[in-house]
Amino acid sequence: MSLNKLSTPDFESYNNDIPIKESKIDNEIISITWKDETKSKFHSIWLRDNCACPLCIDTTTKERIYDLSDIPDSIKPLAISVTCDGALEIIWSHNNHKSIYHPERLRVHCYSNLKSIDKQDSEQKLWNSSFQEHIPIFDTQLFLEDDNVRYEFLRSVQKYGISLLTGVPKSEQDFEKITKKIGLLRDMNWGNIFSIKMDPDVGYIANGTYKITPHNDASTRERIPGIQIFQCVENTTEGGGSYWVDGFFIAKLLAETYPEDYKLLTTVPWEFANRDKNSHYRNKQAIIKVNQQNEPVEINDTYWLREPLMIDFNLINLSSG
Ligand SMILES: [Zn+2]
Repeated sequence: MSLNKLSTPDFESYNNDIPIKESKIDNEIISITWKDETKSKFHSIWLRDNCACPLCIDTTTKERIYDLSDIPDSIKPLAISVTCDGALEIIWSHNNHKSIYHPERLRVHCYSNLKSIDKQDSEQKLWNSSFQEHIPIFDTQLFLEDDNVRYEFLRSVQKYGISLLTGVPKSEQDFEKITKKIGLLRDMNWGNIFSIKMDPDVGYIANGTYKITPHNDASTRERIPGIQIFQCVENTTEGGGSYWVDGFFIAKLLAETYPEDYKLLTTVPWEFANRDKNSHYRNKQAIIKVNQQNEPVEINDTYWLREPLMIDFNLINLSSG
């Protein structure tokens, strides 16, 4: 079977720019040397779990249809070979199950030497106020029609957390069309599209005339919205303005400059609550949520929704400031 017809457990298309030069078994580890002399190692159980055969992956949905707990921990390859098309073929000790792997999918998902394998640049770029004039700007029409432009727009959102679109039509249908090119709209207590216009009767701070300082929205939710989309439809006033802040940059600065404060903000939970006539949402979490490397992954500070701080009395140390 040629490689481009080989089933994989996803809908990606793979090439074979750097083929397998050699493969071998060392106990339950499978080692691959690639044509460029880099090496990858995989555990048997990992490879078995990534089998793409029709007994393991539904061919239409590409969803897994077997249960990993049915595979014995002791599974190991009985035979391993590289097919004439360049795929890796393994016969397993359990049920003589046969797996055929696309080489590039293995290379892309090699976890034994993460740093040495070329990966797409998905690094976040942190920024300060000097970035305001360099925020990437894209044309709405091109964004809607050209996959490459839309890709660059989304890459920019991934990298910087922000992108701008110009020439957005003013109708709500057009706005919705744009949002659906980015992802599914999420229902919130204010609906999924919300008009921010000056109207004190609406009952949200955004509809008032207050100066709203840097914040993020919806800290009352288990997960804050990953992406929010704003459109300036009309400005009927003099003055005012919009500005953006990179919360991760601030968090990094805080971690370097005031590590004790960073530790408090990443560990002490603070409750946020949002009440209106028909709903009441509340959630308690650290203001800066971090990953296992103690790097910030989420900022929760919808400051007008902060509830009274309820923590160990001794954690509040007035003399430190
Ligand atoms: Zn299988």
